[in-house]
Amino acid sequence: MAKNSKGIEVAEILQDKCIACQICIGECPVGAIDLSPEGLALVDPELCIGCGKCQESCPVEAVKFERAGKKELSREDRGMPSEGVPGYEGVAVFIEVQDGEGVQVSWELMGKARELAEKLSTRVLGFLLGEGVDHIAREAFAHGCDEVHVSEHEVLASYRSAPYGHALTRLCERVKPEILLMGATHQGRDLAGVVATHLKTGLTADCTDLSIEDRTRLLLMTRPTFGGNIMATIYCEHRRPQMSTVRPMVMKLPERTPGREGRKVFHEWTPPPVELPHIVEFMGDALEGGMDIVQSAALVVAGMGACDPEAFHLLQELADVVGGTLACSRPVVEAGLLPYERQVGQTGKTVAPKLYIAVGVSGAIQHLVAIQGAEKIVAINPDPNAPIFKVADVGIVGDYARVIPEFINQLKNRMGA
Ligand SMILES: Cc1cc2nc3c(=O)[nH]c(=O)nc-3n(C[C@H](O)[C@H](O)[C@H](O)COP(=O)(O)OP(=O)(O)OC[C@H]3O[C@@H](n4cnc5c(N)ncnc54)[C@H](O)[C@@H]3O)c2cc1C
Ligand code: SF4
Ligand code: SF4
Repeated sequence: MAKNSKGIEVAEILQDKCIACQICIGECPVGAIDLSPEGLALVDPELCIGCGKCQESCPVEAVKFERAGKKELSREDRGMPSEGVPGYEGVAVFIEVQDGEGVQVSWELMGKARELAEKLSTRVLGFLLGEGVDHIAREAFAHGCDEVHVSEHEVLASYRSAPYGHALTRLCERVKPEILLMGATHQGRDLAGVVATHLKTGLTADCTDLSIEDRTRLLLMTRPTFGGNIMATIYCEHRRPQMSTVRPMVMKLPERTPGREGRKVFHEWTPPPVELPHIVEFMGDALEGGMDIVQSAALVVAGMGACDPEAFHLLQELADVVGGTLACSRPVVEAGLLPYERQVGQTGKTVAPKLYIAVGVSGAIQHLVAIQGAEKIVAINPDPNAPIFKVADVGIVGDYARVIPEFINQLKNRMGA
């Protein structure tokens, strides 16, 4: 058995088996493996901590250990102090501002931040940028924030990546939060990438779940991957803050406590000496399709099984009866029947209506990840094995062309219309 001077059993590379794929080099958490002059993997025994990651990852069983089983890595083994990363504390939310108000996703994240902060026994922080925006802090406190850190400047009056990226990076450097959450909006996605790059930290985009690992106190960031076929849980061990973006409507909006108080801290900010693009004029939000499906309390969602221009007046009538909006699955957009703004799904919008009626939608995972927040799901589909029925509260097995007219009749009768 090969041991180093600390008495730790170290990895041995079987030179006759190694195919020099270098996978183990990337997996080793302490950089103990390099390629030898012969082009094969070589372990530095004094650096090796015997974690066994190289053995697990080697595709040809070229790494030998005498001991059986995997060694559980302690935080010290990973090169981390035993309790968090010193100097970093608090769960921060970037408060996005639109038309002089905080956007709803920021308050949704405030609720999640509260939950994470309680687990970590720490504070909830809000980061606010803009000009004349400090009144928004009141709303942040009402949604569970303990401290709002504000930088105001005329250059921050409208969003531009460079000054916002610089200002938010400065806030992170001064306040040192251990976690930073941002809405996966157009602005949040852009800004999160800039800030993570400046701070040289990790960023997990479009998370659908966030929690704290008991043993390590790390933020576990879960998101769909491989085209939505599996859920991956990602963590950021060595760098701070641990950064994550979350789409609107994924986290629950916390209850508002009017009059709840908190601390407001102003931070001076000087714009970086770079030439900024000049804003000539802002165009209004051009919403193709007329209605924002994210805001609608009821959605009638057309899938490929109802992808027929003739069917749409029927679906629109159903939407009108339930006071809702017509939305669709991705193939319906691809077929050119409805605009992209109406698409529900992983590459479309995440929705959380009170009522979601799926008409001819099979229930692919890329569609289902975006309707987790829907309160009641009704599905109409002739295939009793369609996956949509697994998440539906009410399932109607049948052809939409026969079901919907009857559905509309019954609804109208009950409503006394
Ligand atoms: C990376 C990636 C991202 C994606 N992003 C999205 C996304 O954002 N949104 C999205 O929706 N998809 C997305 N998809 C596509 C997704 O995988 C599915 O292909 C898509 O959701 C299927 O749409 P559908 O349910 O409308 O169609 P289908 O899967 O074709 O289902 C049609 C359903 O209609 C039923 N049907 C047939 N006739 C009738 C009838 N007369 N009455 C009622 N029902 C009938 C059928 O039984 C069937 O279940 C993505 C895929 C990938 C790989
Ligand atoms: S056992 Fe762990 S530390 Fe040692 S070489 Fe393999 S991966 Fe690196
Ligand atoms: S993973 Fe295995 S085969 Fe690949 S370089 Fe390392 S020891 Fe060699």
